[in-house]
Amino acid sequence: MSTQSSWKQIYPSIKTAVIYLEPIDLLLKQTVRTLAALYQADCLVWAGLESGNPDLFQVYATSGARPFLSGRTAQHTLSATELEIKDDLSSNDSLLTVWQIYPDALPEWLIAQQQLPQVTQLTTGELIVPATNDGRSGTRSVSSASTYPDNEAIASQSAPIPSLQLVLVLNRPSPTQITQADPVELQSSTGTTAIPGTTAIPGTTAIPGTTAIQGWSPAEVESLEVVSSQLGLAYSALYWRQRLEQARQQASLVGRIIRLLNSNLNPDEIVGRIVAELGQGLECDRCILVDLRSTPSSILATWESDPQLPLLDHRQINPTQWQSVVDMFLQNGASYLEIELNEADPDPLQDWLRSMGAVSSLIVPLFIQAEFFGAVSLLSYQHSRVYPIDELQTIRQVADQAAIALTNAQHYQSLWHKQEALRMQNNSVQLEIVRDDLTQLMNRRSLERELEQFSTKAVWAIQENFCVIMLDIDYFKLVNDTYGHSVGDEVLQHLAQRLQRQLRKKTAAYRYGGEEFVVLLTETTLTEAIDVAERLRQAIRAEPMKTSAGEINITSSFGIAQQNSTYDSNAWDVLQRADRALDEAKRQGRDRVKQL
Ligand code: GH3
Ligand code: MG
Ligand code: MG
Repeated sequence: MSTQSSWKQIYPSIKTAVIYLEPIDLLLKQTVRTLAALYQADCLVWAGLESGNPDLFQVYATSGARPFLSGRTAQHTLSATELEIKDDLSSNDSLLTVWQIYPDALPEWLIAQQQLPQVTQLTTGELIVPATNDGRSGTRSVSSASTYPDNEAIASQSAPIPSLQLVLVLNRPSPTQITQADPVELQSSTGTTAIPGTTAIPGTTAIPGTTAIQGWSPAEVESLEVVSSQLGLAYSALYWRQRLEQARQQASLVGRIIRLLNSNLNPDEIVGRIVAELGQGLECDRCILVDLRSTPSSILATWESDPQLPLLDHRQINPTQWQSVVDMFLQNGASYLEIELNEADPDPLQDWLRSMGAVSSLIVPLFIQAEFFGAVSLLSYQHSRVYPIDELQTIRQVADQAAIALTNAQHYQSLWHKQEALRMQNNSVQLEIVRDDLTQLMNRRSLERELEQFSTKAVWAIQENFCVIMLDIDYFKLVNDTYGHSVGDEVLQHLAQRLQRQLRKKTAAYRYGGEEFVVLLTETTLTEAIDVAERLRQAIRAEPMKTSAGEINITSSFGIAQQNSTYDSNAWDVLQRADRALDEAKRQGRDRVKQL
């Protein structure tokens, strides 16, 4: 296997990845494995090093490369998740590991590479091959800089130091012992192979812990430089394409949330949708929205990716737990807070989140009209989650939008309450609608509604001793004919007053038709109903009606029916039988009460 032209073997897969827009992940994994196999070395690649990219860094490493990575970096630099990738790209039998590294935990040599990318070798043996965004792979000639300082000065003005895209790290167990005692100056990689004991080129920048290149032939180094540079270009192309796609997805997420929020004005639904969209869109395990304005604080909405998650104990929401976070937002103006929960911290909020089994949380404050309202918390249970800047911006946008929607909803609700109050007032107006204009008794529509009510199954089933009285003025036509219609009206008004006066406050008399009236009696036996009817009959006939045409004597006839399951299946049936009893009273000579 020729390791000298490794780039020729790797180039096709890099080209394919770019043409077919393969995931960066796959490209880097493939390359690491192929390189490891070609060079019989442990291999890893540091990615995500683009300048101005605060995303977390990722390291793709063959399993053999892991110990020297973890050995070199302090334990805390590896506090992020380790993902075991078990695909079967069988160029190497070893497992591939992906590490996520926080930007503030970079090894020293990598920081040096960011400042001045070039091929070098660490005193511990690893060959470092960087790729920069100028398409080269760190082949900046340091010696030429020292030889032509003026040119370098001009060059640095016109072309800023290229930023680092990625770094290949290869470690081939070497039979020769690498001198660690006296770290040598950085060696330019352009066509030179460092020989042990070579003195430093004057003017080169010293990076602590680096040495001249040993154990790698110039051709190998050169080939690796080409691979690294190709990989860097491919990485950039795919990376920016991926960022574009993410930005598009996040814009559509924000758009969707805005539409959802505007389409619904119920505050409960609004908060429910906010947590669901955020939780789903950003792929966290649980998303909660907490109202922190009052004591006790309350969780307004929760979204969970998995119903199996440890239960949220709502009772444990204690505003003092959130105090430090609230201070952070209010006093320090923080717009979000990322919390790692796998390190013991005496903070009460972290204790609470940890007790739920969460390993990391992002907390975003909610302000409604410049007033602190609460917070959205995105919780991760499987892996500690770090949110790239794009996602943080999305969350911020959603939170701001949510605050606006909540404000609108609150305004809407207070408006709704006002309308409701107005509606209650209108009820008294509506009462007028149910009354009869002439007599001020309840009208026929009210009677029908009431009968309907009594006839509903639930009410009818428990109804007992329900009686209907129906009455009709005797020879009323004669009154009209003798005194005129308006005097007839006066008679109707007097009669209505007498009826209502005889009845209890809760018992209503209804004007059923022209000079026909109905009284509904609940919890009244037939005997009691007959008594009521007799009382009414007497009240009508006892005194003459004082009208504008003089006093007029009036009598009336009454029909009564009591609810009877044999005859009646509803209240209407009882009414009909009362009507038949009234007919009977008329037939028998009027001015009397008859019952069925
Ligand atoms: P009966 O004893 O059989 O009931 O004899 P009646 O004359 O009362 O006969 P009926 O019930 O058929 O006549 C009712 C009359 O009541 C007919 C109608 O002109 C009159 N009437 C109906 N509504 C009103 C009203 O609002 N005002 C007046 N003044 N008269 C009305
Ligand atoms: Mg009549
Ligand atoms: Mg009549």
